[in-house]
Amino acid sequence: MGFGPREEQKMKVVKFGGSSMADAGQYRKIREILMADPERRVVVVSAAGKRFSGDHKLTDLLYLCYAHIQYGVDCSGIFEMIASRYLDIRDELGLDLCLEPELAELKKRIDAKNISQEELVSRGEYFSAKLMAAYLGFQFVDAADWVKFNMDGTVNQEESYEALRHQALLGYGAVIPGFYGCMPDGTIHTFSRGGSDITGALAAAALDADVYENWTDVSGILMADPRIVDDPQAIPEVTYDELRELSYSGAQVLHEDSIFPVREKNIPVNIRNTNQPDAPGTMIRASFEMDQDPDRFITGITGKKDFSIISLSKRGMSNQVGVLRKVLTVLERHNISVDYVPNGIDNVSVVLPTHSIERDLYTIMAEIKKEAEPDTLDVHHHIAVVAAVGRKMAFRPGISGKIFAALGESGINIRMINQGPDELNIIFGVDNKDFKEAIRVLYNSFVTK
Ligand code: ADP
Ligand code: ASP
Ligand code: MG
Repeated sequence: MGFGPREEQKMKVVKFGGSSMADAGQYRKIREILMADPERRVVVVSAAGKRFSGDHKLTDLLYLCYAHIQYGVDCSGIFEMIASRYLDIRDELGLDLCLEPELAELKKRIDAKNISQEELVSRGEYFSAKLMAAYLGFQFVDAADWVKFNMDGTVNQEESYEALRHQALLGYGAVIPGFYGCMPDGTIHTFSRGGSDITGALAAAALDADVYENWTDVSGILMADPRIVDDPQAIPEVTYDELRELSYSGAQVLHEDSIFPVREKNIPVNIRNTNQPDAPGTMIRASFEMDQDPDRFITGITGKKDFSIISLSKRGMSNQVGVLRKVLTVLERHNISVDYVPNGIDNVSVVLPTHSIERDLYTIMAEIKKEAEPDTLDVHHHIAVVAAVGRKMAFRPGISGKIFAALGESGINIRMINQGPDELNIIFGVDNKDFKEAIRVLYNSFVTK
């Protein structure tokens, strides 16, 4: 049997993140989850994550291992930790799977400095998937055999989908390692961190899954980062557009690039909690017919730190053509993409991550001065960008007033304000030091009242 077009049988692609794969106990929970629903047939897994706070993620250990090789330092101790995490899971589950020769071969290549960083860090997912496949009696399908990257690092979707559909599915289901694929020359390439979410989305799109379930350690997308706000409410329904805004602006629960493949095929995404499998989690779709919660105008509040704002003013700028273009051209020349462009009548700012301008800052400022000839030109660093996201904000006057009043009452200075043309978000800048407080103040003013 192949993965070819399915007639009637429904199928779900299910992805389990690092904490869901952290130890043998978590593997057992996953098996229960799969047994509870026979439609869960294609499983994408991450490398083992933290078992407790202070523990190491396997992927972090692999990056560390590579850093050791780079500096010519022996990494045997770290490699032992990595190998034993997987061997312990195998032994505790009583699996008859011989991983030792592959681990020994990997260590040999590390010692000979004969492995790329990307291939080395991808082994976390690889061994996870081997173990999970053995445990479930599912087939192991290597991501390197179907996730195909173009030379520029983007995914060749057509070829990848085709390749996955042609994989023979011998057993009842399949387990696929997340996070990596292969370049046109066959070498291993990884997504950015958290990229197993993208592998799951690609598998769901390739196989026209009915649902893409993403299992993690929280019961869905929460209204704010639980590490900042105590016990935030879960959001039952989110649109693809809102999710894109939320994850781009900082909510790390799902990788920001995992939305595109599923949105193209209109496949719903369901975020679920491996440790609380009965909770319905968050459902993500293009739109929702019924409004389950008409009083909720803000879907979520999120943000990121360490932005810079370059601001310039020029008398009569509103009547001059091309000032903004000149600023953007300078940034483009330095290969810098801009996140937000808030503007007034005779002034404009560009907001961008500090790390992207750090190196060339003085040259960039000099070029803007020369080419745009502003009256004033300043740059402010240590800015956090906070976003309030909600599909219903557009129909509700006074939301931004409420936000600014709440922040003002708490003595938080607003450095910048921006609203996207689709009115799906209100973005504002505060000092890095006020970041968490700004999120808490907003959450409390919108959720508890
Ligand atoms: P996984 O290992 O399953 O991929 P991640 O660590 O990538 O899980 O994402 C889940 C984590 O995202 C949660 O444990 C939580 O701390 C964090 N998080 C940040 N913002 C949010 C949010 N708005 N909603 C839910 N989780 C969030
Ligand atoms: N293991 C990878 C990481 O830690 C990918 C993932 O978990 O999604 O980033
Ligand atoms: Mg993740």
